[in-house]
Amino acid sequence: MMNDNLAGGLDACALVLSRVHAFLHCELSAEEADLFRQHLNACEACLTNVDVENTITTMLRRCQPRVVASPSLRLRVVSMTVTIRPELS
Ligand SMILES: [Zn+2]
Repeated sequence: MMNDNLAGGLDACALVLSRVHAFLHCELSAEEADLFRQHLNACEACLTNVDVENTITTMLRRCQPRVVASPSLRLRVVSMTVTIRPELS
């Protein structure tokens, strides 16, 4: 089982760190999220880490509506062509 080490054990921190984003984006199953929270209650290092990631995620989410390419920029990017310069080969 993938979840065996999530709540404790040597690899628990590595496992938790690898799932921070899944946790923050609510992509973990209820059972996995429970184990995740259990580990955070017991492990201050991971709690700090998740806190930082959570702050960043919240900030990004807040900024997202503004990060929309204007129609003209979108058109320019879409119509861009890559030119290979012979002198660089
Ligand atoms: Zn930990």
